[in-house]
Amino acid sequence: MTKPCNCIAEVNATLAQHNTMLVFTLFGTPSRVIVDTTQVETGRGKKKAAAMVATFCPFCGQRYEPEPARPATSADLTAMLDDPTVAAAVNEQGGGRAA
Ligand SMILES: [Zn+2]
Repeated sequence: MTKPCNCIAEVNATLAQHNTMLVFTLFGTPSRVIVDTTQVETGRGKKKAAAMVATFCPFCGQRYEPEPARPATSADLTAMLDDPTVAAAVNEQGGGRAA
């Protein structure tokens, strides 16, 4: 994994002279920028505003955490079997599909 960026600390150092700082997560590594949201409808029974936490650093674009693994789809498996080197290896082991 690549090293997490240091943008939050760098931007906060610049904003400090304006008596301002970013809102960011206090737990979890790395810290992530929180996007400000506001409640649209107010009053009894209305949902509170949801929190939005950035997936990518808004300053340099680096992903904060590695993309989560996902199971292979049938389209992925079909594409793998269409790869001649993969198909040959699978056929050697007795798997794969009939040609
Ligand atoms: Zn960054």
